[in-house]
Amino acid sequence: MSNVVVIGAGQAGSACVARLRNKGFDGSVTLIGAEPVPPYQRPPLSKAYLLGDMAEDRLYLRPASFYPDNGINLRTGASVQAIDAVAKTVTLADGALPYDHLVLTTGSHPRRLPASIGGTLDGVFAVRTLADVDAMAPCFVTGARLLIVGGGYIGLEAAAVAAKLGLSVTLIEMADRILQRVAAPETSDYFRALHTAHGVTIREGVGLTRLLGDGAVSGAELSTGEVIEADFVITGVGITPATELAEAAGIALDNGIRTDAQGRTSNPAIWAAGDCASFPHGGVQLRLESVGNAIDQAECVADNILGTGREYAAKPWFWSDQFDVKLQIAGLSTGYDRIVTRPGDEGTVSFWYYHGDRLLALDAMNDPRAYMVGKRLIEAGRSADPALIADPATELKALLKP
Ligand code: FAD
Repeated sequence: MSNVVVIGAGQAGSACVARLRNKGFDGSVTLIGAEPVPPYQRPPLSKAYLLGDMAEDRLYLRPASFYPDNGINLRTGASVQAIDAVAKTVTLADGALPYDHLVLTTGSHPRRLPASIGGTLDGVFAVRTLADVDAMAPCFVTGARLLIVGGGYIGLEAAAVAAKLGLSVTLIEMADRILQRVAAPETSDYFRALHTAHGVTIREGVGLTRLLGDGAVSGAELSTGEVIEADFVITGVGITPATELAEAAGIALDNGIRTDAQGRTSNPAIWAAGDCASFPHGGVQLRLESVGNAIDQAECVADNILGTGREYAAKPWFWSDQFDVKLQIAGLSTGYDRIVTRPGDEGTVSFWYYHGDRLLALDAMNDPRAYMVGKRLIEAGRSADPALIADPATELKALLKP
């Protein structure tokens, strides 16, 4: 019987401990989380929960009874301060805890604007934790002026919620277009038009020079020299993997905490999964920031702690909700050289990313059938003739036949 300690009680950490018990592990399991609450899902924080359409209790990944019922020692509000990889202990405020296997599921930190440009003024928020969202909730009053810095998915989702609630929203994006880092121009165009139609002001190619205000934020000076007024600011400028503990313990980093194909770090007793971890994929160390990856990778780590020896095969998928549009993404678009557009029923659309004739990924807007077919093709390593995809008369499901 061995003793597993998991640092980080989020999506990956909870998936790991649940899987260990589900597979019959009868050693001791401890899940340690810095936040004061049990593991919860983050996606609704910028969607239904922010909108007020989802109660807090529905955020929790498992009922509170799940942990004691399964012999999982869940320690919330407890931050691990250090790992002693030689003594095989982790240090908490109240002492040291031994481990045989240690799993790092420490997630990531939102990038914050520096204090020198007003990043620490009151009324400047990031969207990472339940506490972040609860803190900004009182600012969501009809007519309030919200400035969003960053046109990635989180910024756009927050913009959609705020516009729905009657706020006056301006979003600035330093790059030439929103979603530039993650999506094709076609998808950027689609979401720009969607937001504009709902009254959100999207400013692309516009950076932030500094936030203005005395104690609390009151506006911003933009790279164009303009000054705009704002009652509060949300930043969505990316995340950095939470690697500090690993680094201090001498564990190798490479685009996050480096793991091998089984999820093991450079220390054979220490594993990593989720936003903080990178894994070998196509000749590079890939790091994904998604729920699907956090769960699958953490379950793979649990299996390998139990000796399965299985390699992690990532099946990337993601979604985003903005206004009445559900975007579903499958695959990884890196390296695409053309986009095939497929009109769906009733104004739905999907964009399929190809490299030559090889299908890499797709973005489906309100088109679950296109998503399902594309995802299955990509996961099977298959492609479909781009001409067939572009033809609305093609019955998509027929493409799945061997
Ligand atoms: P987390 O869930 O962040 O958990 C890490 C935990 O570790 C945190 O609770 C942290 O406090 C804890 N921790 C860190 N260091 C320590 C320490 N030293 N001691 C104790 N505890 C520690 N993904 C999608 O697929 N679809 C979406 O639509 C989507 N929307 C999102 C919307 C928002 C607002 C956010 C923030 C994320 C969204 N994501 C989405 C991403 C997804 O939520 C993350 O990829 C996922 O939560 C990663 O899981 P994780 O377990 O690696 O990290």
